[in-house]
Amino acid sequence: MNEKALIAAFERVVSTDHANPNRLGCSGISVLQEFVMRPETFARSALLDHLGRCEPCLRELKQLHSDRRNAKEIA
Ligand SMILES: [Zn+2]
Repeated sequence: MNEKALIAAFERVVSTDHANPNRLGCSGISVLQEFVMRPETFARSALLDHLGRCEPCLRELKQLHSDRRNAKEIA
């Protein structure tokens, strides 16, 4: 599964049921950055489970993806 498919799958799963306003169990932005750079490192990690259940993390992940894409286009 590539990153795009992963995000599409998360978007189907994650709903307002997963708003997680208190960010319980969140790993933080630095871990999400690591995931964007080296997704294979997290192939079997709890982070993937978490992302499927945490809307704020998913939003941050998508932001990181678009930031990276923009950076590539500039470079
Ligand atoms: Zn989270």
